[in-house]
Amino acid sequence: MRNHTSVAVAAIALFATTLAAPPASAGGVDRLYVLDCGHISAADQSRWSPGVNAGVPIQLSDNCYLIHHAQGWFLWDTGLADAIAAMPDGVKGANGALEMRRTKTLAGQLEEIGVKPADIKGVAVSHTHPDHIGNVELFPNVMLYVQKAEYEWPGADNAPRFNPGHPVTLLEGDRDVFGDGSVVIISTPGHTPGHQSLLVRLPKTGAVVLSGDAVHFKDNWDNRRVPPANFNKEQSLASMQRIADILAKEHAQLWINHDEPQTDAQKKPPEFYE
Ligand SMILES: [Zn+2]
Repeated sequence: MRNHTSVAVAAIALFATTLAAPPASAGGVDRLYVLDCGHISAADQSRWSPGVNAGVPIQLSDNCYLIHHAQGWFLWDTGLADAIAAMPDGVKGANGALEMRRTKTLAGQLEEIGVKPADIKGVAVSHTHPDHIGNVELFPNVMLYVQKAEYEWPGADNAPRFNPGHPVTLLEGDRDVFGDGSVVIISTPGHTPGHQSLLVRLPKTGAVVLSGDAVHFKDNWDNRRVPPANFNKEQSLASMQRIADILAKEHAQLWINHDEPQTDAQKKPPEFYE
């Protein structure tokens, strides 16, 4: 019994300090690739920045992030469906307010890097909007990490948001994916009920927070703007503050998935971050 108790206490202590104490080394992570998972054009950027830049068009990147860990590959977000790459005019979204395109497929980019879908150990999506979950079923047998609140959020016509047969780990908060602090899913609800972000502690680059859609572009981050279509405004503001606190504590960079100027300046395969 004594052993069981001390193990349990140690586990709780470890869990409680997951974010507070960066590991001595960055654990088993050694590579992060920024993949092109689509492109979004909008005629009116105020759909994300209420009252600001109404009628001004904006171009958004849509990234996936492929992370190599000693235990295997991990994919963060899956972007727009690869099938869109075959459609020259892309697809319209949000009642015509958005145009979504793909110039490259996720499958093709993985192949160029030399990664087969079966090599992927885990997939997590920031949330269940179509520009993030488009290719989850490229990996039908790969463990999916998603917040329970997102998984159970009814879709259109009460449809499930994921294939019910897909292996899934339902989260209720943060999750240290590999147990060494190198890749940590951070609960950041608000954009959707179970939105999440990702803290990656890279050995050379340092700590990076992958935003998901906790914020869509830098100007909204600097001004803490909440898009009117977000699920919950107060949660959205609290999640931005939570990310800001993590950035300060970790001396981390914030990589905003949809911020096109930031994405354009980042390394692309075959280059990667170490
Ligand atoms: Zn998005």
